[in-house]
Amino acid sequence: MFDQQCKYGILGMARSGIAAAYKIKTLGGLVFLSELLPESEVHISADLRRDFDCEFGGHSDRLLACDKWIVSPGIPLDVPIIRKGIAAGIKIISEIEFAFTIKSPDSKLIAITGSNGKSTTSSLIHHLLNELGYKSLLAGNIGDAVSGFSIEKPGYDYIVLEVSSFQLDLIDTFHPDVAVLMNITPDHLNRYASFSHYARTKFRIFENQTESDYAILYKNDAQIMSRIDQVRARKMFFSSHYDNHNVDAWMNEVFIHVYDSFQLSKYNLGIRGPHNYSNAMAALLAVDVMVNRMEEAMEHITRFRPLNHRLEFVRTINGISFYNDSKATNTDSVRNALLSFDKPIRIILGGSDKGEDFSVLTDLLKEKAIKAYITGGTLDRMRQTWLGKVPLLCEEDFEGCIHRAFEESDIGDNIVLSPACASFDYFKNFEHRGETFKFIVDKIAAEYEKN
Ligand code: ADP
Repeated sequence: MFDQQCKYGILGMARSGIAAAYKIKTLGGLVFLSELLPESEVHISADLRRDFDCEFGGHSDRLLACDKWIVSPGIPLDVPIIRKGIAAGIKIISEIEFAFTIKSPDSKLIAITGSNGKSTTSSLIHHLLNELGYKSLLAGNIGDAVSGFSIEKPGYDYIVLEVSSFQLDLIDTFHPDVAVLMNITPDHLNRYASFSHYARTKFRIFENQTESDYAILYKNDAQIMSRIDQVRARKMFFSSHYDNHNVDAWMNEVFIHVYDSFQLSKYNLGIRGPHNYSNAMAALLAVDVMVNRMEEAMEHITRFRPLNHRLEFVRTINGISFYNDSKATNTDSVRNALLSFDKPIRIILGGSDKGEDFSVLTDLLKEKAIKAYITGGTLDRMRQTWLGKVPLLCEEDFEGCIHRAFEESDIGDNIVLSPACASFDYFKNFEHRGETFKFIVDKIAAEYEKN
């Protein structure tokens, strides 16, 4: 229920903050926007000034006159203004919490979180629901903020919401009908005090669920299983192997099995690699608990194609294939990239540092990579980790690094950009990094064809 008397402070004028601000205005509420960046760096500042009471270049005490704050996921929670807000007794929430409070009760909420696989699984669920004839909205961390849509009105059968740990940090009543937790592996350790703090945050997705809701969980994840008693919802498990009726979906060499009665060959799927079979199992279970149409869902899932920047095939030049896995921003996703190819690969790694221990990849790199090409902000740390252990080439220049990998390749090799890091060293975001990679590969193709 939306409270028109409540004055909202919005901290951070990025996508989700702006979407929430316009929603509050549409609903007749009061809102004040506050941004740390100077006005010149906020691209729609003129519109925001026209439409709202706002401030730029820092968070002032004007915020303390608000009743609730909606805080951008990009703002760490240990900064002075947040401490000040807490001390002043202000209710501090994330945009997904706000969206949940205004959502029409007619729309069922399916929320997906995890360290990896969120976007792919959310897109799979959305794809299946659409193909099955339901009206589904896909929003959140993937694409547009959910507050930007008419979620307060009936109309969507399902809201499929990709949720990050930063958004879960600031929930209160957020309560999905189906909550999917893909995995918990090290990520964002530059923002959390410890791995266990990060893991606890991921579990908050189940916090307000009851026995009538569903939780879809990865059985092979020790972090998940060690906290499983905290989940009150009905639990459905997916697993990379059969486990004596303790799992609802599992894999063998070739088939995805669900509930003993349904099976689907992995060769019928348009996505590859063991991690993607997990994503497919999670999506099938999440949809089936809502609509009970497994056989049709299995048919529709075969038509799903990989998202851009996730092990995306780019092209082949002279028998050498390029894959763009720019979204692999942590070591676990790189581990999955390495496991997804039958033949050894040349892998391009490096980017901006999130504090992860890269040595967890050493053994698999030795086994699966012909050579690691390292570049970007983590070059020194990666070199120190792998020097003398993994065949290495260090090249600061991103384009130069791709050229070197191509020059050294033989026919039949795969070159995979799978950085294990965020992209903010040289790029605006992972999409920009992936697009740049594809552009450079196209340039190499043009040069190659000329010669
Ligand atoms: P997210 O939205 O959580 O970042 P994506 O679906 O965008 O996840 O995939 C990001 C990266 O993680 C990709 O590079 C992919 O190879 C890897 N990945 C995808 N699904 C999984 C999974 N279930 N487990 C581990 N890694 C995965």
